[in-house]
Amino acid sequence: MPNAKPIAQQTLLTHDQRHEQGAVTPPIYQSSLFTFSDYDSMIARFRGESDQPLYSRVDNPTVKALQDKVAALEGGDACLAFASGMAAISNAILSVVQPGAKVVCVNHVYPDTYRFLRGFCQRFGITTQFVDGDDEAAVAAALSGASLLYLESPSSWVMSEQNLRQLATLARDAGVVTLIDNSWASPIFQQPLLYGIDIVVHSASKYISGHSDVVAGLVIASHQHINNIARHISPFLGGKLSANEASLLMRGLRTLPLRMKQHQQSALQLAEKLRDHPQVSAVCHPGLNPPAWSTLRGYSGLFSFAVTEQVDIPQFCNALQLFHMGVSWGGFESLVMPAISVINQASEFNSAQDFGVSPRLIRISVGLEETDDLWTDLTQALAAATHR
Ligand SMILES: *Cc1c(COP(=O)(O)O)cnc(C)c1O
Repeated sequence: MPNAKPIAQQTLLTHDQRHEQGAVTPPIYQSSLFTFSDYDSMIARFRGESDQPLYSRVDNPTVKALQDKVAALEGGDACLAFASGMAAISNAILSVVQPGAKVVCVNHVYPDTYRFLRGFCQRFGITTQFVDGDDEAAVAAALSGASLLYLESPSSWVMSEQNLRQLATLARDAGVVTLIDNSWASPIFQQPLLYGIDIVVHSASKYISGHSDVVAGLVIASHQHINNIARHISPFLGGKLSANEASLLMRGLRTLPLRMKQHQQSALQLAEKLRDHPQVSAVCHPGLNPPAWSTLRGYSGLFSFAVTEQVDIPQFCNALQLFHMGVSWGGFESLVMPAISVINQASEFNSAQDFGVSPRLIRISVGLEETDDLWTDLTQALAAATHR
């Protein structure tokens, strides 16, 4: 039906078929294996002539229900779910590169992605050139001889946005596969496949779960890329998602569009107010100065800001009442994390300056609490930590 209006994401996520016994939610198939009714159907499954589930390391019906939803939500052919965002990222990268391959990666990616490329991949002769994702000439030059262009837009900590349309075209012309970490925007606010990106990965531990009770990851791409991972990589690395966690992610997805609207509204308000605060020297939020070519349809609740030298950062963190100190983000609860913690961690690879994040930077994940209460908390903590 080429003329049919595409189904809205909110409807896709809340509408479901009736399940067994009229259940409105898909059943949780808590079974490691699935048996066959007769000899011929078992042989057919092994020949690849049937898609009857076999074993939950490779195909569980609850996980499959999640994968189908997410593929439709991202506008991709197919999806594979994993036990963590890092499992999704490592499986996707390893499906593209061979020993000796060159990866081009934008600066300021998620720290464990950075360490995976700099440490683990290097052991197999896979080298990574880090480039400024805003500098198209630099990306174009680096693509020569590369197999993979790895993007994260907006990037971790500094929230700089990359021009997905342009970079996808550059990479395609150079015969380079493009992969993007789209965890920040979620499929609600950015669908990179629409702009020619080949593979999308998510840490579903963040907004897609939304309830801070699951660690999971997702890869969405064409049938060709997904089949490549499902046949040659994921069965052997074995980082599969459990049926229970797939069910929790489907629950999270039902409210994802509503939660994203609220995260967007609260975080934008706080970012604008922080920009005008005398003890704040910079705010890194992609919505404050969006480029004309932006592919973001909206903004999530994660951003960072730099404080002046007069603010004692440990005191600021300790004085906050509603923002708890912790890693991760994308849940219902507001969190704070100073950049210095990641800078210390990154120096494991002598890369504090490559990482290029100011130690005056503080990242917050704006949860679903009342915005005014969050603002009151930020201002009282800034006041308590300011010394003249
Ligand atoms: C958390 C995170 C990851 C890793 O995901 P896990 O689910 O923790 O393995 C990857 N990318 C980004 C941007 C993240 O924030």
